[in-house]
Order: sequence, then structure tokens, then C-alpha cells
Amino acid sequence: MDSTTQNKMRAELIAPCGMNCALCVSYQAKENDINRQGFHKSYCPGCRPRGKNCAFMKKRCALIGEGQVTFCFECASFPCERLVRLDKRYRTNYHLSMVDNLRFIRDTGMEAFLAAQTEAWRCPSCGGLITCHSGLCLHCQLETLKAKKTYRWDR
Ligand SMILES: [Zn+2]
Repeated sequence: MDSTTQNKMRAELIAPCGMNCALCVSYQAKENDINRQGFHKSYCPGCRPRGKNCAFMKKRCALIGEGQVTFCFECASFPCERLVRLDKRYRTNYHLSMVDNLRFIRDTGMEAFLAAQTEAWRCPSCGGLITCHSGLCLHCQLETLKAKKTYRWDR
């Protein structure tokens, strides 16, 4: 198998806020080790693997900061104002909804969610995953990113 199998979805990569770290440019940069190919991206193993619980929410949310909830949908305030703002930013710019993700996980289960995500974000060329931050596959579309470092979803 080629290296795209590294991009397999894992439950550990779903952050408390509903972000799928497998789709994050910093995670995919690390998985594909793109700095060997002339990039200078920061690498991240994912919010949970690096022990941060949630990069987006933890400073503003004691429940997440102290690890008292696994996902935001466990909270009585779900979806709180801060999560709604984050969700709007991601829906607008990155084709991803944390709130939809969390509802899917809550209502349908993690396994079905991961399967659906793998389909939804599959690279049509190599079968890996595209990143939500640019819409590019960092396994087979690095030339596009090299040509335009600010590339965002065809813009
Ligand atoms: Zn690809």
C-alpha cells in the first residue's frame, strides 16, 4: 500500500469541538512530511494526541480544559456561542461544520461518522484525504500548493 493509508481516520483524531484533525493542514503536513519537499509548515499530531484536548475551545471552556467532557455535545450548553462562532468560520471557509460533526457522532456513532468522513474527504486522484483548510490533497497535489501557497478551495 502507498503512504495514503497513513491518512486513515481514527476516533482519536476527532477533537472535543468536533474538528476532525485528520483533515487539518498541520496534521496532513506531518503525515506527508511535506517540509522535506520545500515547505515550512508546522506539524501537529492532532489535538487529542498532543494532549491539548482542544486547541480551539479549552482556553474558553473549563469543562474541556479540565477534560470533564469528551465531546461538546455532552454539555448542557451545546452548541454554545463560542462553538457556534467557530462552526460558522469553518463552514464559511473550510467546508466543515463542527456542530454537524458532533450531532452525527452523538446520533449515529463514531464508527459510522469515521466511515462517512473517509468518503466525504477522499482525494479523487490518490484515495488519500484532502485537507479542509485548502481543499488540496497534501499527498498528490503539493505542486498546486507550491505554485500558490495561499491556495484555498480553488481561490
Ligand atoms: Zn491525493
